Amino acid sequence: MKELIIEMENYAKEKNVPIIEKDSIAFIMKYIKANNIKSVLEIGSAIGYSAILMASSNQETKVTTIERDNERYMECLKNVKKAGMEKKINVVFQDALELNLSDVSYDLIFIDAAKGQYMKFFEKFKYFLAPGGVIITDNLKFHGYVGKSDTIESKNLKSLVEKIESYVEFLKDNEEFETKFYELGDGISVSFKKNESK
Ligand code: SAM
Repeated sequence: MKELIIEMENYAKEKNVPIIEKDSIAFIMKYIKANNIKSVLEIGSAIGYSAILMASSNQETKVTTIERDNERYMECLKNVKKAGMEKKINVVFQDALELNLSDVSYDLIFIDAAKGQYMKFFEKFKYFLAPGGVIITDNLKFHGYVGKSDTIESKNLKSLVEKIESYVEFLKDNEEFETKFYELGDGISVSFKKNESK
C-alpha cells in the first residue's frame, strides 16, 4: 500500500497531475476516523490518490469518486485495483455537474475538482448530505493567490482566483451551513448544516 502511494505521488509529479497536499489528506483521514465516516462522495478523482487514502482511513468507509477526464479515470481504476479496493471505491466516469444522483446520501462530500465551479458543486451536492454530514473543500488558498486577485495580471488566473474568493465569501455568508476554515496544505474548509451540531 505504501509503495503504491509513493508510486502515485511520483506519477502525479511526472505527469503534472494535481493531487492533494499531505497535510490536507492527513486532516481528512483523521476526520474520517474520528467521526466514523462510512460514505464519501469525491468530486475530482484524478488518479485516485485521495480516494484510496480516504477509503483506507476506516475499515467501513466506502468512497464514490467522480472524474471527467478519461486518461485519469483509467489510471484511477488501475490504482484502485492495485490497492485491492474495488469493493470500497466506486469510480464514476462523468462530469459531476451532469451526474444524476438519487436515493443516495453521504457522510462526507469532498470537493476537489474545477475550482471555478466550486459553488455549483456545493449547491448541487448539498442535497446528498446525510444528517450530520459535512462538505470539505480543498485549495481555498490556491497557492497563496486567494485574497490577492487585485494584484494578478493574467486575465485567466485573475478570473479563477476571483471565483475562489467568491466561493469563500459564499461559505462565510451561508445561512444554511457553518464553515470552519483551516490553514492546512492549500487551504481547506469543513462545512456543516447549521441546525445539526457536530
Ligand atoms: N482528489 C484528487 C487527489 O487529491 O488525489 C485530485 C483531484 S484534481 C485536483 C481535480 C480533478 O477533477 C481533475 O482530474 C479533473 O479532471 C477533475 N474534474 C474537474 N472538473 C470536474 C467535473 N466537473 N466533473 C468531474 N471531474 C472533474
